[in-house]
Amino acid sequence: MPFRTDYDYSTEENIQFMHRIVKLMMQHKITPTPINYAVFYEYTASYNDNLKAAVDQLIAEKNPFDMETGLALYKKHICHAALVSFDKINQDIQRIIDQTEKSVNETQQKASEASDSFEKKSIRLENITNLEELKTVLSEIAGETKSLIDTSDHFKSQLEVANKEMEQLRKELSKVKEAATVDALTGLLNRGTFDETLTNLLEESSDKDICLTLLDLDHFKQVNDKFGHLIGDNVLKFTASLLKKYSEKHHYVARYGGEELAIIMPDTSLSVAQDIAEKIRTSLQNSRLKRKNSNESIGTITLSIGIATRKQNDTIESFILRADQALYKAKETGRNKVICEWAMDAISHC
Ligand code: GH3
Ligand code: MG
Ligand code: MG
Repeated sequence: MPFRTDYDYSTEENIQFMHRIVKLMMQHKITPTPINYAVFYEYTASYNDNLKAAVDQLIAEKNPFDMETGLALYKKHICHAALVSFDKINQDIQRIIDQTEKSVNETQQKASEASDSFEKKSIRLENITNLEELKTVLSEIAGETKSLIDTSDHFKSQLEVANKEMEQLRKELSKVKEAATVDALTGLLNRGTFDETLTNLLEESSDKDICLTLLDLDHFKQVNDKFGHLIGDNVLKFTASLLKKYSEKHHYVARYGGEELAIIMPDTSLSVAQDIAEKIRTSLQNSRLKRKNSNESIGTITLSIGIATRKQNDTIESFILRADQALYKAKETGRNKVICEWAMDAISHC
């Protein structure tokens, strides 16, 4: 039962998808290039709402689906979604910096022109002989001062606009950051963040107590087959919420891949880890999950759990492998149970 990441579907499911994808592509006369296939695979098999909406719109508007369209969809919605956002934010920041620099230069230029002009006027004032001339110079000075104030006000309002834009960008950046670290379906940390966190913790100190708990829903494929993927998704979300509920604040709860979840538990003893795992297991088993609209019961949903404790010289791979072996044992010996690595030979609950 190796852990996998995205597109965690069985061969049969993938064959079913293939039939649907080919039918769709033929129906809409779309050339079956690898990129177009990837777009339609994502359209058929995943939960990428933005991509679905974009493809639906193209189809509805009967727009041609050429190579460029496929590639643009692929880049925007599958491959480089985060990178594209970063590029846009970078460009926006550069634009704001350029605009601000331009207005600083313009303001400086106007101030220096005004200073020159005031100097000339002060010489004229020294040589003034009549009241009329004095009035003219003073009115010119008043006009130029007003223009200087206008320039400074304009500069201030441009700075305010730049400030607002920067604030907006800051929000966008934090959204992009969140999208890059969090799993969209469950709201848990994603696989990349899981790997990074565990690697950092292992590197931090070699004697830090860490428990790694891996959890895998039992016979989840059957839940999907029987009730559909949307219900499957909701079960996954609900299970994720139980992990959040029972784990401690300093734990890291992640979606490791597909229907496989994980909790990294730093500074946690094995008995506490077991206790938390048992609470999650019994809580899910005892939850009476129902379909929202029909109230039809989804039946008992269970999950199997494997726990490993960190050993000196553990690498991320060796640590995960031992937790995965414990999880495998839990599956092999009947599912719906918690197994710790050290209890594996005894084939018993922790
Ligand atoms: P086991 O008890 O051995 O773990 O059986 P299983 O059916 O849970 O395991 P298997 O690996 O055969 O199938 C996992 C299924 O999980 C296949 C896939 O359809 C489903 N799955 C993975 N990710 C998601 C998801 O995001 N949403 C839904 N609804 N299903 C998912
Ligand atoms: Mg499973
Ligand atoms: Mg699995």
